[in-house]
Amino acid sequence: MTIHAAVCSLALRFAEGIERRNGHWLWTKRRHPSGYARVLVAGKEVSAARAAWWMASGEWPTGKVWRHCDEPACLNPAHHRIGEKPRPKIRRPHKLTADDVRAIRVEHERGATMRALAAAYGVSAGAISHIVHRVNWRHVA
Ligand SMILES: [Zn+2]
Repeated sequence: MTIHAAVCSLALRFAEGIERRNGHWLWTKRRHPSGYARVLVAGKEVSAARAAWWMASGEWPTGKVWRHCDEPACLNPAHHRIGEKPRPKIRRPHKLTADDVRAIRVEHERGATMRALAAAYGVSAGAISHIVHRVNWRHVA
């Protein structure tokens, strides 16, 4: 099979199998048990996202192709990047001081919501709840 024939056949299958929604190209056909769309290109089963990238750029991706939108079935090459996926940043829990804890309790008594306090102090609402209900920081008066 020539490259031209492979591209034409793939374009046809994409035209039939992709539903465009909110900028996403959602694959509506059968998916691999892994959850990812796979297609045959020149007799070889490959990732449909890689194939879509190939169609859009004209070059077969040499690195990993990963999706940065929230639609698992999306094949839009504009929603994919090539290379290593950046690791999610680990959020360090904000260290509160005894003064913070006192201030949080006072502000809560004055009517500040736990959600607002959580945002202001960079901690979870659960952490604020524990402070307010004296589950944590019991030693702070
Ligand atoms: Zn998308």
